[in-house]
Amino acid sequence: MDYLKMHLLLGLVVITFSFCAESCQKGENHGQLTPGSYNLPPEDSSTTNKTDTSHHDNTSPEPLDPTKMSFEVVFSNTADDAKATVAELKYNKNGWVSLEFDDNSLDALKAEELLKGKFYTDGCGNNVPYAAALAVIGRSNYNNQEMGTMGDYYVTYAQMKTMIGLGWDIENHSLYHEPTGNYNNGTDWAKNISEMNALILQKINYNMNGAVVPVNYSGFPTAAKNFGYLFSSSESTFDNLAPGLGDYQKVASFNLAPLTFSAFNRIFNDDWSKMETDVKSATATLITRKNSYFRLGSHKVNINNLQNILDNFSSVTKDNILFLSTREIMEYRVMAKLPITYKTEANILKVVIDPKTLPDRFRWRDLSFIVTSKAKITNIKNLNGIDKATFNPETGLVNIFKQKTIWQ
Ligand SMILES: [Zn+2]
Repeated sequence: MDYLKMHLLLGLVVITFSFCAESCQKGENHGQLTPGSYNLPPEDSSTTNKTDTSHHDNTSPEPLDPTKMSFEVVFSNTADDAKATVAELKYNKNGWVSLEFDDNSLDALKAEELLKGKFYTDGCGNNVPYAAALAVIGRSNYNNQEMGTMGDYYVTYAQMKTMIGLGWDIENHSLYHEPTGNYNNGTDWAKNISEMNALILQKINYNMNGAVVPVNYSGFPTAAKNFGYLFSSSESTFDNLAPGLGDYQKVASFNLAPLTFSAFNRIFNDDWSKMETDVKSATATLITRKNSYFRLGSHKVNINNLQNILDNFSSVTKDNILFLSTREIMEYRVMAKLPITYKTEANILKVVIDPKTLPDRFRWRDLSFIVTSKAKITNIKNLNGIDKATFNPETGLVNIFKQKTIWQ
């Protein structure tokens, strides 16, 4: 919120930045998953050859539908009793936490350094780094310059791409932060959101799916919903959209948040000693609940306080809580509602997911399944539309991964 003051101080300083000097490592976002004991052998984690179905003929006589995501769970022996259900939360965890930084804050880069060294697991022996989100403004109200080109003051486009590669999300914080100034779109939040989405799409080929309300401007959550995003975030402004709980209720049930659009609240502090107190308290509550969450936001970071928060979080939550962007968990929940068919034959359980209702902007198309059978899982065969799978033969957890990394 101190953006305006800060930016007026900048005056007419113009920083040139050569954009996109290096190629973006698209398609390598799962490189963050350290191979674990239950990872697929290389021959099964490779990209599916859509034209070659010959090796499936014994178990899948019907032709492969290229519009569907499909895979086979392979068991040690006959698995007529095999059943699978989609886990309520990713990796079958109990809850989730999201952290976001507003106003293209350079402090997010300091947090990124810390977060990438902290992990939860996918329940199958693989580490997943904690990830957060950066809420970005497009242009200066003062001189119309793009924030992504002012590297001394704001996170650059190239740095945003690095964040995305580490599992972070980029959120829409309006093209212009203020409705007034030398350059502005007034209170036309629909225009601000649409033009900001287009700018990020053009600059880094990233399609956003959530928004953070600038200041407390009403109408912004409604505009985000109408644009087709999954959520808005604010400590005070919800436009009467659910769950809209306000700061007084820090830990909330995810069941209260509508599937297709949620106007989320958050704990907001620029004072990180206060943040540490608030988050430790919320974490203690969260571990006593099922399918619950809390969210936090800031313009700044104090590394010592963040380190304390993360150390406390990992020791208290014991790998049962996700630390991820709100987008990732909201997209997961929509994925979990897609039509899915299951069919057993001999030692195979074939799973087919129909993603045709999924909006193109969806980035995370991952799903976690809980599979039960007297027989043990020995392998996952990717039939179509999946980047990778992991499984745990002891618990029956199966994760499939599919991430969209570029939009035209
Ligand atoms: Zn802001």
